Amino acid sequence: MIRILPDQLVNQIAAGEVIERPAAVVKELVENSLDAGARRIEVDLERGGLGLVRVRDDGAGIEPAQMALAFERHATSKIKSLDDLERVASLGFRGEALPSILSVSRLRMTSRRSGAGHAWTLGGEGVLFARQPVPAAHPPGTSIEVRDLFFNTPARRKFLKSEATEFRHAQNALDRIALSRFDVGFALRHNQRRVRDLAPADGAPARRARVASICGEDFIAQAVEIDESRMGMRLHGWVGLPSFARSQADLQFFYVNGRLVRDRLPGFALRRAFADVMHSAHHPAYVLYLELDPAGVDVNVHPQKTEVRFRDGGRVHDMLFGAVHQLLRGVRPQPEQHRVM
Ligand code: ADP
Ligand code: MG
Repeated sequence: MIRILPDQLVNQIAAGEVIERPAAVVKELVENSLDAGARRIEVDLERGGLGLVRVRDDGAGIEPAQMALAFERHATSKIKSLDDLERVASLGFRGEALPSILSVSRLRMTSRRSGAGHAWTLGGEGVLFARQPVPAAHPPGTSIEVRDLFFNTPARRKFLKSEATEFRHAQNALDRIALSRFDVGFALRHNQRRVRDLAPADGAPARRARVASICGEDFIAQAVEIDESRMGMRLHGWVGLPSFARSQADLQFFYVNGRLVRDRLPGFALRRAFADVMHSAHHPAYVLYLELDPAGVDVNVHPQKTEVRFRDGGRVHDMLFGAVHQLLRGVRPQPEQHRVM
């Protein structure tokens, strides 16, 4: 017998793809805050995010009449047409995060548009029961509170690691975003303890300071800055010297048009650029930003949007390899030290 699945089940299936752990909730909610134009984003976690993930922003807010709609599947304010999809500038566009997260948690959204007299709030467990928001107190912006993640999907919850490990993943998710938006302030608390407090970073010294607080003082002390434009693309950021060899590939941040990407192609090109100066068992460290014509890259490849497809991967490879290889040739050789992390 063929039947159409109920909405909540459809959303739970989608949640399986997009929301595999608390870190994914952090990523999706913080990206929504950025898309809403937030200048400061505060993230509160309890028990590694299993008890609570709360993201509060000072962005544009949501009209009360639209709040329930935000939890409908494929409901988005960010694209209207295929044309928009091809030049998408926002981090979100699939309209999947909020319905997915709601389907596997106890969720509350509270939001106030600037100029509105007060905020409105709406919540539910797995589904929205009351679809009418009620008045609430909140400064302009939006807070989303996600409690008891996977409370109704025990099979999913079994795959989670310890609270400490889940916290580390969540912190990494926020750090990766913080390295992509120096103009925005970020704060992170875990079990009421302040873990990060990053003021908006204007100017080169403040940006370096943010990189140092996320990647470590020793990275920034042993990194060279790069800013190269060639082949119609620009590559800028920080490359750790070969002396800063890592035993793990844990300090590799690569962004394409502001979006963190975990694609094989840049990793491969950068490894090759390091091949003659670093032992092959070690991993280079970098925080790099590639900017190119958005038409040259497709971000709609994977639900988590961390993979991209380059229209001309060969050119991107040559650009990355060429720029970093040349940079490394220009720096004085230093003895390689093995670091035990
Ligand atoms: P997407 O980000 O792909 O559009 P989401 O499910 O993440 O889909 O969010 C649905 C919609 O809810 C967004 O398009 C946006 O209009 C609204 N929204 C979500 N979070 C916020 C926020 N923090 N501030 C303002 N609007 C938000
Ligand atoms: Mg989103």
